[in-house]
Amino acid sequence: MTHFEYAPAPESRSVVELKESYGLFIDGEFVDPLSDSYLSSVNPATEEVLAHFAVGSDADVDAAVRAARRALPKWSKLPGSERGKYLFRIARILQERAREFAVLETLDNGKPIKESRDVDVPLAAAHFFYHAGWADKLEYAGYGKNPKPIGVAGQVIPWNFPLLMLAWKVAPALACGNTVVLKPAETTPLTALLFAEVCQQAGLPKGVVNIVTGAGATGAAVVAHAGVDKVAFTGSTAVGKSIAAAIAGTHKRLTLELGGKGANIIFDDAPVDQAIEGIINGIFFNQGHVCCAGSRLLLQESIAEEVISRLQHRMSTLRVGDPMDKNTDVGAINSLAQLQRITDIASSGDAEGARRWSVDCALPERGYWYRPTLFLDVTESHRIAREEIFGPVLAVQTFRTPTEAIEKANNSPYGLSAGVWSDKGSRIHLMAENLKAGVVWANSFNKFDPTSPFGGYKESGYGREGGVAGLASYLVQE
Ligand code: NAD
Repeated sequence: MTHFEYAPAPESRSVVELKESYGLFIDGEFVDPLSDSYLSSVNPATEEVLAHFAVGSDADVDAAVRAARRALPKWSKLPGSERGKYLFRIARILQERAREFAVLETLDNGKPIKESRDVDVPLAAAHFFYHAGWADKLEYAGYGKNPKPIGVAGQVIPWNFPLLMLAWKVAPALACGNTVVLKPAETTPLTALLFAEVCQQAGLPKGVVNIVTGAGATGAAVVAHAGVDKVAFTGSTAVGKSIAAAIAGTHKRLTLELGGKGANIIFDDAPVDQAIEGIINGIFFNQGHVCCAGSRLLLQESIAEEVISRLQHRMSTLRVGDPMDKNTDVGAINSLAQLQRITDIASSGDAEGARRWSVDCALPERGYWYRPTLFLDVTESHRIAREEIFGPVLAVQTFRTPTEAIEKANNSPYGLSAGVWSDKGSRIHLMAENLKAGVVWANSFNKFDPTSPFGGYKESGYGREGGVAGLASYLVQE
């Protein structure tokens, strides 16, 4: 096959000023951790240590929660229009510093610069703009005449969309008058720490947002703290279950955004060129580190051969490599641990009899990489069809009728997302009605908008983020 040659188009990293080490952001200031313990954040594309960051101990988390509690009475009583001004200000600063955020996100996470630049950062700003608009209109949101904030929100987020997941959590919490203690993921804390600077720049009152870095134990301390009134968690189903168990019987409210194993369903009347792009976007966007990835491809039998061959052709044109290159489509796997997890589950596909096909591309010598891969001859019982791989690996199956497609798609403990590709409106409605998934995309995939609620069924979690529905997670109805 002929490939276009591209000249390198590297984004400059000079816009980012990294400190050697970062403290915790508590009560409006960066402070040293009481534990005096630090971890390193590594660029997964080069294995270079980018910076050291503090590990928050129980005592640090306690200081952060106390700061959030002190800030709560004044913040929650501010007129909504005043809270809205802070959110608008944060949104504007995110836009002004967009390039800096995009470069830092790509360095810390490994995702292609074109994604952090065109998706993560603009969507994060959009979440603040959207919720800024709600801050003075909460009485019209449908949650009673005088809805009140819940209190202090303890929020724990994963590494796949570090800034965006922060925005999904912090923007609605603040708009509704809550204060926040947020724990970023241990492999990607740097944009959250830059966001702390944005809070200072925006003049946000002290203690309204506190950011405590660290690993799982720090997250567990946030969840367990008696001064936290609401826990919002995004991450793996296993940790989500342990959090639900840990806070059962307490006064705390809980929302969980967990894993997924989304079915992307292509009917024989689908617009095939668009569907191919939707399949590519569904599983290779962000290296497949996407909770709502279309990681199970269901093809109607009559078109399966044609779609697979065109898909393989398209996959061969994906540019895998340096995430800082503006032409790169697939970047680095976020960590060595995640690479090992992907490798392990994918090799179970080989062992259980599925047929592997991978793109034959050169990979950089250093860093963590995985070739875009699909598996054919996959059955319902295969591990690669059941478990979330959270990497660039697609399991392909076929079906004959809409009923079979629905049964196969719903045959999963998860229920976060699905995609339907068909020219026929009535079929799309039939599928959307019967698919047990929080979001069903029609003739598109991975479309996100702050006005649109997002969340799961079954083991993908409960509660919604985004849209009017998402406000319910941060309000007490009166
Ligand atoms: P993870 O559950 O291991 O970690 C998520 C966060 O929880 C991290 O900040 C981690 O430090 C913290 N944590 C770990 N143990 C904890 C504990 N016992 N108590 C409190 N906090 C703890 O998940 P991950 O590997 O970081 O992320 C990948 C997972 O997240 C995938 O399963 C993916 O599907 C899911 N995810 C879901 C959504 C969604 O909206 N549904 C979005 C992004 C990611």
